[in-house]
Amino acid sequence: MKAVVRRGPRLHVADVPEAVPQAGQVVAKTLACGICGSDLHAVHHLEHSIEMGLRSGAANTLDPARDLVLGHEFCAEILDYGPETDKRLKPGTQVVSTPFAFGPLGPELIGFSTRYRGAFAERLVLTEALLLPVPNGLAPEAAALTEPLAVGTHAVSVGDPGPRSVALVIGCGPIGLAVIVALKRRGVGPIIAADFSPTRRARAERLGADIVVDPAETSPHAAWSSFDVPATLAEMGLAQMAGRTLRDAIIFECVGVPGMLQSLMEGAPPGAHVVVVGACAEDDTILPVLAINKQLRFSFVFAYSPDEFAETLHALGEGEIDPEVFLTGKVSLDETAAAFERLASPGNDVKIVVQPWR
Ligand SMILES: [Zn+2]
Repeated sequence: MKAVVRRGPRLHVADVPEAVPQAGQVVAKTLACGICGSDLHAVHHLEHSIEMGLRSGAANTLDPARDLVLGHEFCAEILDYGPETDKRLKPGTQVVSTPFAFGPLGPELIGFSTRYRGAFAERLVLTEALLLPVPNGLAPEAAALTEPLAVGTHAVSVGDPGPRSVALVIGCGPIGLAVIVALKRRGVGPIIAADFSPTRRARAERLGADIVVDPAETSPHAAWSSFDVPATLAEMGLAQMAGRTLRDAIIFECVGVPGMLQSLMEGAPPGAHVVVVGACAEDDTILPVLAINKQLRFSFVFAYSPDEFAETLHALGEGEIDPEVFLTGKVSLDETAAAFERLASPGNDVKIVVQPWR
């Protein structure tokens, strides 16, 4: 069967061995699979990604010298069942699932494993127990957004905003937009969104951000005082003496480049909760005493729980999320390498979806 393989730091369309389900697994036809920032990173920096995984305590499931089939944001159609399966869903059922498989070394990430190929392929093997049927005739491209949107669901649930929280989202790429979606669904407002790109700011606005900021012109932290969030320790002291009821700040860092943490320690209002979603994979320097003086709280988040994933799929199925803001391109396997190039400088793109049957 045909797949896009990462061989060295390049993508090729290649013939790969057929996907064969083992015990507890199904074989499925890939209908759609989104290209993720971590896929882009893996093409050029796979060895570094592996090292980061190992240093975090993950199992060694990836041999960078072998062909790798990426793709973990998928929607697929069940074709057939392997041995020792319950077969509770009929072949032909469209499904999504969290991108996990269970191998001899424990859980592995589909699309970041030599053993479990990802969905930039005509067919893939999935774990039966994790399959969720796509509800309400939701289009496969939209269902494939469950995975990246669930990242936003999780970030917001860790942030745990209350009725008086004011949210700031820094970076309006796919992750920042997913955070805005989750904040809106939770009724949080106002939402301030910051990004250098006018198209990204327009998308943030379309999803319901109340204020959009171009950081080249205005500091994302300029508006705190106008929402009753004391912007400095001095303002906080005065507000407390005056007996004012204050609001709290919750900040989502969705950029993931060096310098972001330090700029938040300098700019965030005292007592803010910073949720770090952007995955910076380089050494970064911070001056912790600033965060101490302001009593900032930092939470670092990864992925989502199975419940958050299922809840996000349900919301998509109920039409609570507009997938069109995210879907900016559909490509075949042959066009996938070019789509990766396009996303290296995203411009007008958010999510390009690969449709291997094209
Ligand atoms: Zn991803």
